[in-house]
Amino acid sequence: MKPAFLKDQAFLADIKAHRGDPGLRVWWLGQSGFLLHYDSHFALFDSYLSDSLTHKYAATDKPHIRLTERVIDPALLANISLVTSSHNHTDHLDADTLLPLRAANPNLALIVPEANRAFAAERLHCDPASLTGLIDGQQFELGPFTLEALPAAHEALDTDELGRHHYLGYVLTAGPYRVYHSGDTVLYEGLAERLSAFDLHLALLPINGAKPERRVAGNLSGNEAAVLARQAGIGLVIPCHYDMFAFNTADPEDEFIPTCKAIRQAHRILRNGEGVTL
Ligand SMILES: [Zn+2]
Repeated sequence: MKPAFLKDQAFLADIKAHRGDPGLRVWWLGQSGFLLHYDSHFALFDSYLSDSLTHKYAATDKPHIRLTERVIDPALLANISLVTSSHNHTDHLDADTLLPLRAANPNLALIVPEANRAFAAERLHCDPASLTGLIDGQQFELGPFTLEALPAAHEALDTDELGRHHYLGYVLTAGPYRVYHSGDTVLYEGLAERLSAFDLHLALLPINGAKPERRVAGNLSGNEAAVLARQAGIGLVIPCHYDMFAFNTADPEDEFIPTCKAIRQAHRILRNGEGVTL
């Protein structure tokens, strides 16, 4: 198994060491999970910090063999203001992560697509009223953070009967910084234009999508992620959704890095547990 860049107590020590940083700091927690720190406040995107999928599929024909060590026990993450879930798949809505996280952070705001709020409450064995549901264009403010939801296409822009999207991305604003977390998505008409309007400093984009002729993974490919960032005028792009499961991974060296270099898109490769300060 690939070692995490930092894990457990060493990871917590890194958080502590950067608490006084001016600016926004972002750590990759593996898969689509990121921890953000701004002005002594913390937010999480799509954290998957358990082995629930490996256990669930252990004796089946689709084993989820883990590639990289877990960065941190969610029960040890304190002072978290909010956590998002982009959609219902377990690597983006994991009870084994969110329940201990919630126990450690009793005031945690748990943000889900409004279309998924009842489903998420069932998975988390909680009152749906204790979750915050967002729809396309809706904002949520807490402390220094503002979230705005926009649709994701995994692989289509699926909605419920009221037209509310089941897959969301989020733009998080923290002070002067604006960060886009796409969740799982492929490209869709108007996405780059919509992102341009946010004047984003950072995008966190999946790169595990298959090549167009055999697309099965429902996500951006490395090439598409790089081009989307460039088209939307995004300051820095960090790839994600690889190095977690053996059956569904990608190598940033294959497409993402060469394309970023070719089109002069600023990019940064993080290891699980590694952070960068904007
Ligand atoms: Zn996923």
